[in-house]
Amino acid sequence: MKYNDLHRKVREEVSSMAKCSICGKGVVFGQNVSHSNRKTNRSWKPNIRKVKAIVDGTPTTVAVCSRCLRSGKITRA
Ligand SMILES: [Zn+2]
Repeated sequence: MKYNDLHRKVREEVSSMAKCSICGKGVVFGQNVSHSNRKTNRSWKPNIRKVKAIVDGTPTTVAVCSRCLRSGKITRA
């Protein structure tokens, strides 16, 4: 495996940490803007909960956003 491939794999794993496994909602990026209009980069993470759910008949721990939880898109175990 080339270095770039490994690096990409690590990046994907890091970015999948704050990602909903149902709807795919992830981190979004933007800027803080102060009153004097200075801008700094920032990011917003989705509200991800690790819950036990029934996936294909077996209880599994899945990372789901709070919105998918609320709309009942998973069956809790
Ligand atoms: Zn979701």
